[in-house]
Order: sequence, then structure tokens, then C-alpha cells
Amino acid sequence: MSSVGEFALIDRLKKFQTRGASVVLGIGDDTAVLELDRLRYQLFTTDMLVEEVHFTRAMPPKRVGHKAMACSVSDIAAMGGVPTVAVISIGVPKDLSTKYIEQVYAGMNACARAFGVSIVGGDTVKADKFIINVALLGEVEKKYLVTRVGAKPGDKIFVTGKLGGSLSSGRHLTFTPRLKEARFLVEHFKPTAMMDISDGVAGDLRHILKASGVGALIDVEKIPCHKNVTLDQALTDGEDFELLFTLPFTRARKLVEYTKIHPEWQFIEAGTVSSMSGKIQMKDKAGVVRSFHLTAFTHF
Ligand code: ADP
Ligand code: MG
Repeated sequence: MSSVGEFALIDRLKKFQTRGASVVLGIGDDTAVLELDRLRYQLFTTDMLVEEVHFTRAMPPKRVGHKAMACSVSDIAAMGGVPTVAVISIGVPKDLSTKYIEQVYAGMNACARAFGVSIVGGDTVKADKFIINVALLGEVEKKYLVTRVGAKPGDKIFVTGKLGGSLSSGRHLTFTPRLKEARFLVEHFKPTAMMDISDGVAGDLRHILKASGVGALIDVEKIPCHKNVTLDQALTDGEDFELLFTLPFTRARKLVEYTKIHPEWQFIEAGTVSSMSGKIQMKDKAGVVRSFHLTAFTHF
């Protein structure tokens, strides 16, 4: 199934959603959002890794474990929240050793500790391939919730770090979810929209544009690329797990000034939200503007 297929499928599955009174946001954002109390929402997300699709047995198992937990932490961060509690389900093939699985869990445990997550349960079943599923709860102060809806024409588009080459370099196994950055942003700069980049910035930007009913003009020169990564790769490679967010003009200027004084924070401005709904345009070095059509990374 193609990437288009993945999202078309999710769209078709939306009609089977059930929504009780506590559901604030269901399918369609980085996590579901649920009423918790007067001041806070509960966040709920799940991510599944499958052997031969997202990792191989040759990869260090601790890193695979790290990735399984870090993907979900990244989704909670993308809503402006903090992760709290996880349950972990695994599908285990016959030939997999206990030692290997313990190593995977050591990686998950280290990541969980680093981000304040309690691992409190799960499920274990037989399977043909090794499968790890992390379901993670989080919380966010209502005033700090950021969704994919809210980007306005004139807002500036930012990313939290360099992009591209995550799979080929192995960074997809070792990345740091941008929880610290997300909390800093919601506490001090109030992004108008935010998500984490799992399918390539170009593809994921489309989600924000669609949800917000806007377009984007990307400044090609400003896209931060990892070493040995082409611009096309930086735009379309998957699994960067940086944050993509938008800020109104004045707060964007303030953030740019702030990062000049505090270079330990990486917030890179790379474009502007436009009123051309759903359309991504690219401005090159010479200032020439073109429509952008490259397709996003596909996990399928
Ligand atoms: P992310 O990359 O942020 O983890 P996904 O692209 O996996 O998000 O999912 C997009 C949205 O679709 C999310 O809101 C997710 O909860 C929902 N979703 C994905 N797969 C399913 C499914 N099989 N059934 C219901 N909802 C799903
Ligand atoms: Mg996400």
C-alpha cells in the first residue's frame, strides 16, 4: 500500500470512530485528546514497530526499544504535553531469545525514565515477526494544547532541527524526542499549530495545511539538511522526529532573536504560511517560486 493508501485507509476508518462525552479530539492529530479535569487534557497515542518494516534483527535491540518508546513520546510532545504512563504489547516469534527481548526492554526502560514515563503493563502474544506496540498516555494543561489546526496566513514555519537521512544514518533508532523544546514553546511562544515529522517534512506539512485550511511558501535555502543529505531527501525522508510548528509573525521574530542569544535551542525558520489552501510552494535561491509535488516517505 502506498503512503496515499495509508492515509486513505485511515480516512475510511474514521467512520467507525466512537466518541463519548470525554473525547475532545479523535482520529486526525498526533494523539487523541480527552477531558481530564478543569485545567488539563489527557493525551493518548499508540505506535507499532514491526520487524523488517521499521527495524531488523541486525540492529542493536536496545536502540529498537528506545525507538519504540521515543516515537510515542514524540507524539505527546507534538501536542504540547508531557508523557505519563505506558503499556507495551509484543508479538514474539518462536526463534527470538529472552535475552534479545530484555535488551529491547532495557532500551524502552531507559527512554521511559528519561522522559518520566511509567511502564505499567502490556500484552504478550505469539507472532511470525517481532512486533512492539507502545500505547502512551500524557497530560497537557488546556491552555498549552497545540493541534494541527490553527496555522494562519502570515505565520512563520519552523522546525526543531536538521532533516533527512534518518533511516540511512541510523538516527531513526537514537533520536531524542523534542519534549523539552515542545514544552519551552508552549510555555513561552504559544505555537498556532504543531506536529512531529514522521513521514518527511513536506508530507507532514500537508497535514497541518489541510487541517488549518492554509498553504505554505517554503524557503528552500533555509531548510536545514543533515550532512550528506540532498534537499529532496531532507524534504521527503521519513522518521526525522523533529517538530514542525507555526508562529505568528511577531512571536516568530522574538523566537529567532531568542535563539541567537541561546544557540543551544534549535528553532529554524524555513517558510511562511500562505492563504492558498493545501498548496506548497518552494522559493529557490534566486527567489523563483514553484509548486511542490514530491511525494512523502511511506512506511508501507
Ligand atoms: P503519527 O505519525 O503522528 O503517529 P499516524 O499517521 O500514524 O500519526 O496517524 C494519523 C492519525 O490517524 C492519528 O490520529 C491516529 O490516531 C489515527 N490512526 C492511525 N491508524 C489508525 C487506525 N488503524 N485506526 C484508527 N485510527 C488510526
Ligand atoms: Mg506524529
